[in-house]
Amino acid sequence: KKIDDKLYLTRFIPASESHLKIIDENVCKTYCPDKVCTLFCPAKVYSWEEEHMQIAFEGCLECGTCKYGCPFDNIAWKNPRGGFGVQYKFG
Ligand code: SF4
Ligand code: SF4
Repeated sequence: KKIDDKLYLTRFIPASESHLKIIDENVCKTYCPDKVCTLFCPAKVYSWEEEHMQIAFEGCLECGTCKYGCPFDNIAWKNPRGGFGVQYKFG
């Protein structure tokens, strides 16, 4: 039982480092009143709270939309390291 628990935990640990970054929050603040990333992301990864963009990257489905969807090219996207991320959740 203990080992099962451990395996479960290991399998579901998400990548600890975000593969998504806002390049400049001032751009969001100043030029993007609609905060469209909070609308187009199907996993609701982005939320604008108290003048900052919260990124719940663990929930990212890697659909790729935000790679191209930000009108200001303000989201930096790097692939999670091999062996981490959603592969584990769905693999
Ligand atoms: Fe910022 Fe781009 Fe999101 Fe707009 S869509 S809030 S500019 S990251
Ligand atoms: Fe959301 Fe898709 Fe971007 Fe992940 S890749 S943060 S699911 S829009």
